[in-house]
Amino acid sequence: MAAPDPSTIEIKYTKLFINNEFVDAIRGKTVPIINPATEKVLCEVQAAEKDDVDLAVKAATDAFKLDSPWRSMDASKRGRLLSKFAELLERDSEYLAAVETLDNGKPYFDANDDVTATIDVFKYYAGWCDKICGKTIPTDGPYFTYTRHEPVGVCGQIIPWNYPINMLSWKLGPALACGNTVVLKPSELTPLTALYCGQLFKEAGFPPGVVNIVPGYGDAAGAAIASHMDIDKVAFTGSTDTGRKVMTAAAQSNLKRVSLELGGKSPLIIFADCDVDYAATCAHGAIMYNHGQNCCAGSRTFVQEEIYDKFVEKSRELVQNRSVGDPFDPLTQQGPLVDRKQFDKVLHYMKRGKEEGATLVFGGERVGSQGFFVQPTVFADVEDKMSIATDEIFGPVQSILKFRTMEEVIERANNTRYGLAAGVITNDINKAFRISQSLQAGSVWVNCYDIVTCQTPFGGFKQSGVGRELGEYALKEYTEVKTVTVQIPQKNS
Ligand code: NAD
Repeated sequence: MAAPDPSTIEIKYTKLFINNEFVDAIRGKTVPIINPATEKVLCEVQAAEKDDVDLAVKAATDAFKLDSPWRSMDASKRGRLLSKFAELLERDSEYLAAVETLDNGKPYFDANDDVTATIDVFKYYAGWCDKICGKTIPTDGPYFTYTRHEPVGVCGQIIPWNYPINMLSWKLGPALACGNTVVLKPSELTPLTALYCGQLFKEAGFPPGVVNIVPGYGDAAGAAIASHMDIDKVAFTGSTDTGRKVMTAAAQSNLKRVSLELGGKSPLIIFADCDVDYAATCAHGAIMYNHGQNCCAGSRTFVQEEIYDKFVEKSRELVQNRSVGDPFDPLTQQGPLVDRKQFDKVLHYMKRGKEEGATLVFGGERVGSQGFFVQPTVFADVEDKMSIATDEIFGPVQSILKFRTMEEVIERANNTRYGLAAGVITNDINKAFRISQSLQAGSVWVNCYDIVTCQTPFGGFKQSGVGRELGEYALKEYTEVKTVTVQIPQKNS
């Protein structure tokens, strides 16, 4: 598959998608969408505000009314609609990947992988639709009791810019499988693939109002969703600070259900008994993939002292060979960061690392003079208290720390407000089990990293989140359990 010429990619949808129609924002506000590789404006997208969100919520509420086409549809038919949507994603996958690359800056081949993973998620949840069921319960007394797993209702979903189309699938897949209706807000930085998906939901045959997509700024459209009185549940992915605001708004409005997928500062622990070349390659991928703009990035690499120098040397080789440039060039491994704010933030942390006394092994500067390109960067001799070891940089900056013993590294790895992910590389199964039991993290990878599949739950301990996405566990976040008890004349075993 050849990468397309970016100048030939047409952007088809730039309006809000409400009730299966593309409409302008009521007040006519727009968001400029910037190509991070060129810093040029790609297009203007309509920016939803509170009154637009109200319209979308009204559409979603109507679509969720008792006896509506969506509520009265067979669950198996919901599954067929989701399968049809997945087929349409497959049909248009190269176009979607190209738009994602233009909008986000990630390499075209990585964007293709994202679209493939998105298709997998929708196919997976299509299969769940007619398998979501309650129980019959042997209750005391002359009663027959059963539970129903009902959809929660109107779900607000707010997603970030780092994996725009994947995050859409993690949210919409389980929500729709359970029979909810949705108002989804993509990031103001990367709304284009989500809007195109709006058209595909319509083409697949979803009834009007089931899926509504309202791009816009966080403090307007996002805040309106989080505090809306007629939204029954809000699902959010983004930074821990914004997640706190979303939870507060949910509590202060109608106590809507909340699930949060937030930030991380994930440790990857490398024991001296490992194959150092493999470990360094794994650790490099764990932090550099998606330019480090990855919530579960292995951003603290703990290496046992016996192999520390060799490991740092191997990491230097890997990072200096990483190709940075045009994301449509098939040889590029790292495109631009997503926007100027992110670019400034990452450069700031590179500077802080040097000032705080870490050893700069490679990188630390911007690349070129146009576009948000930075060097993939490695710091060694990083201390626990340095900001590059405590803060979520969300960029291609590897911090390599040294440790001596297992108990010491467990304590240091857990000494963070985050708890999203962790990894361990060792050939000793006892160390692998000890570490995987001890780390406070929603995912622990042993001798691998960043393995996230549609079947396996994903989410955070501590301030990395509330609830789980993906797999069967996500269905719990999108259903209410109703207990129905019926009096019967006589009970028998
Ligand atoms: P962000 O918190 O700035 O924005 C996320 C979304 O929230 C955007 O759509 C934004 O418009 C919206 N938003 C902003 N202010 C809001 C408000 N007051 N009320 C409601 N919505 C608001 O995060 P980001 O910079 O887009 O994404 C990066 C962050 O996301 C990182 O911290 C990363 O770790 C996290 N992330 C987590 C996961 C996960 O699964 N845990 C996955 C991807 C990204």
